[in-house]
Amino acid sequence: MTTLTKTETHSLASALKPQSKAFIDGAFADAASGDVFETINPATGEVITTVAHCNAVDVDRAVVAARRAFDAGTWSRAAPEERKATLLRLADLVRANAEELAVLESVDSGKTITDCLHEIGNEVADFFQWYAELADKTFGKVAPTGEDALALIVKEPAGVVGLVLPWNFPLLMAAWKLAPALAAGCSTLVKPAEQTPLSALRLAELAVEAGVPAGVLNVLPGLGETTGQAIGRHDDIDIVSFTGSTEVGGYFLRYAGESNLKVIGLEMGGKSPFIVLDDAALDDDLIEHAAMSAFWNGGQNCSANMRQLVSASIADEFTDRVAARANAFKVGDPLDPDTDIGAMVTREHQDKVMGYIHRGGEEGGRLVTGGSAEGAPGTFIQPTVFSDLKPEMTIAREEIFGPVLGVLRVGGFEEALAIARDTDYGLHATVFTQDIDRAIHAARRLPCGTVSVNGFSEGDVKTPFGGYKRSGSLARDNGVEALDQYVQTKTIWVNVRAVGA
Ligand code: NAP
Ligand code: MG
Repeated sequence: MTTLTKTETHSLASALKPQSKAFIDGAFADAASGDVFETINPATGEVITTVAHCNAVDVDRAVVAARRAFDAGTWSRAAPEERKATLLRLADLVRANAEELAVLESVDSGKTITDCLHEIGNEVADFFQWYAELADKTFGKVAPTGEDALALIVKEPAGVVGLVLPWNFPLLMAAWKLAPALAAGCSTLVKPAEQTPLSALRLAELAVEAGVPAGVLNVLPGLGETTGQAIGRHDDIDIVSFTGSTEVGGYFLRYAGESNLKVIGLEMGGKSPFIVLDDAALDDDLIEHAAMSAFWNGGQNCSANMRQLVSASIADEFTDRVAARANAFKVGDPLDPDTDIGAMVTREHQDKVMGYIHRGGEEGGRLVTGGSAEGAPGTFIQPTVFSDLKPEMTIAREEIFGPVLGVLRVGGFEEALAIARDTDYGLHATVFTQDIDRAIHAARRLPCGTVSVNGFSEGDVKTPFGGYKRSGSLARDNGVEALDQYVQTKTIWVNVRAVGA
């Protein structure tokens, strides 16, 4: 929880002077075309600033710089201790500037200041620190051979990587990808979401201060169809790591297929289940997890647990209690430290979420609480709970990405698992039960990247995060596994001749 008051956050917000140029080859620059786009504060509808809109020319300039830096070896072949020291400085700078970064992020995205402060002051800084520490603790292997050979299996930085980001956790997603990519020694191009470009540009300023060499980190704000596509189609980018919607993830596979066959790592959407079995202790802790799994970040979370599959014997009590908890969330001014849920990221997104809410009612869902948009010109939505959903209903199948929790009644364990499994997505699942055997069976049989038992959790920096099915590729963010996205594996086979007698 922040110690800043609402007055202080607002005065910090008025004093912001956001960087609005692209960051290419170690310097801030306008887009070659001179194009700009607006970034808007969704809580007020006001334009914060205009930002450089990078096109294929700018992307190419950044790739040339990134490749030059990579080939020069100033970062890619630097001693691991050197990369570690630089990234530790960056972690410290993020911590030291967390309040300013958090206010900037809150204003640009509509996220609450409390969440922004936590994500940036703790998690973003910790990510840079954790991967910095890993830089000089990652070893290769020696394969078993006879005496006539020595076979080394070594990891090398993979080259120039594009990091294409969503708007829901702007700086955190940047850190999830940048920290391991930089620790591995890659050169990077970051493409923040068009709705939230500002915190990544500020991070570039801090990276200069930390000593990241020119060309190693480039930040290219712009729209998906121009900047994003130019990255996807560039013939000299080796890897793209993408977080965003399943639809756009598919575009990146196509871009790769139609260009240089770059490797694409995908983290995408979800429709994750929250399973409450009949033996679960229906206490405040469970209700808190149920509500937070759905409403944290206004439901704008890829692993939000929106399909709450609750044993019929406790479904009514569960629904009443989760609705009461939903009503207690304070929705409104994101810069107020007392606010729990801020603004939806854009008007367009608010309309999309409201469309799902209307559809839910039309298809026979029972609206228990919430369901209204408010605060115009701000883009707020009251936390919404539906009950009596059926698995085939649209709002029980499609990703809504807003504060809309749906309760489905289920019979036994097998039915709960069958409904939970019946989805194109596979990012996350939560299971509440006091029966350890059922918990383990569920964890093993749910086809998704993370299963959390008796609590909603995405894990932390140490544990890999990613999706099965249409939620992801084999790539994983976080944990030691994230480094695999940014390294090549090389075999060095040395013939060893007999010496002497
Ligand atoms: P999105 O529309 O797919 O955008 C993601 C990124 O791709 C943005 O930078 C976007 O640029 C860019 N993009 C859009 N269209 C493009 C195109 N035609 N070619 C190349 N790039 C393009 O997703 P979003 O709406 O920002 O984020 C919400 C989605 O992200 C949800 O589906 C959510 O589940 C998913 N998500 C997944 C994870 C995870 O780890 N699995 C985490 C967070 C979010 P613009 O900003 O200009 O559109
Ligand atoms: Mg914005």
